Amino acid sequence: MPLSEFDLIRQWFSAIGPRRADVALAVGDDCALLRVPAGRELAISIDTLVEGVHFVAGTDPVALGHKALAVNLSDLAAMGAEPAWFTLALTLPRSDPAWIAAFSRGLAGLAESAGVQLVGGDTTRGPLAITIQVHGFVEPGRAIRRSGARPGDHIFVTGTLGDGALGLAVELGRYDAGPHRAALLERLHRPTPRLAAGCRLAPAVSGGIDISDGLLADLGHICTESGVGARILAERLPLSPALQAWTRTTGDWRPVLAGGDDYELCLTVPPERMAEFRILAQGVDCPVTEIGRIEEAPGIRCIGADGAPLAPIKPGFDHFAA
Ligand code: ADP
Ligand code: MG
Repeated sequence: MPLSEFDLIRQWFSAIGPRRADVALAVGDDCALLRVPAGRELAISIDTLVEGVHFVAGTDPVALGHKALAVNLSDLAAMGAEPAWFTLALTLPRSDPAWIAAFSRGLAGLAESAGVQLVGGDTTRGPLAITIQVHGFVEPGRAIRRSGARPGDHIFVTGTLGDGALGLAVELGRYDAGPHRAALLERLHRPTPRLAAGCRLAPAVSGGIDISDGLLADLGHICTESGVGARILAERLPLSPALQAWTRTTGDWRPVLAGGDDYELCLTVPPERMAEFRILAQGVDCPVTEIGRIEEAPGIRCIGADGAPLAPIKPGFDHFAA
């Protein structure tokens, strides 16, 4: 039997994530009441996933719950912020208890492990869309910004690149990844926000961003905002076994450089902070790999193993590009 809007909220969205001490009032009233710890800045970010645009119809609701929160937490990670709370605006075509229960489960799993509490939201009927706003804390003046990179800075990325894009090709039936299928689909559907890396490395970096639209596009944002350029070495780019196999057999760097949905961090480190950065990176729960340097000349130069620039690749995905 379909649930009413109020039953649905009470049953599936009133106890997601840990009960935090800084939440005075959560789901159920006209507003949530929240306490930002004294002396800290509040970092806020919002992202929407729309069916048919960000995920294909019929996507597993458990995975969707995880991913909708993961892409938002990734923005907090990119600022070096510690996650605290989130709100959820859910537009559903129908009240389907099995779907909602599964979605709620996916959401709750990541909320619990990341320590974020769902404190409110809105529920409406319409084409399936999920909007989440996350709130986190940073030390004042310490957030990682896109505008801080300087010529000579070293460029690092977390994890591996290209898995999200190749995972989407598998999902759409355009690529048979053989033994790598499951790993690629896992990366597409259950990205890991690099929260520990962002918080831990923040004190030693000059700039940073999360890679949601591909390395060229997102490093491009750092370059534009910082008024600099970059040189990256293709052979240094960290690749999973699936992407090693792909680039070896096709020579195609597009998923790695211009694919989306990786949710890794790209960070810049001034030469004088490198020693500190290397020590901090040892305590991070994922690989942290140097891929190039920031330069004065605008634009991103990507150099192949033979020392020659790679053929130009069109960066990223723009919803409103012609
Ligand atoms: P109002 O009409 O005052 O906006 P709503 O009926 O939209 O109130 O919501 C009632 C309560 O349920 C509010 O506390 C709101 O934050 C919460 N809520 C509504 N939808 C969701 C949701 N999808 N997830 C979490 N909380 C929700
Ligand atoms: Mg409302």
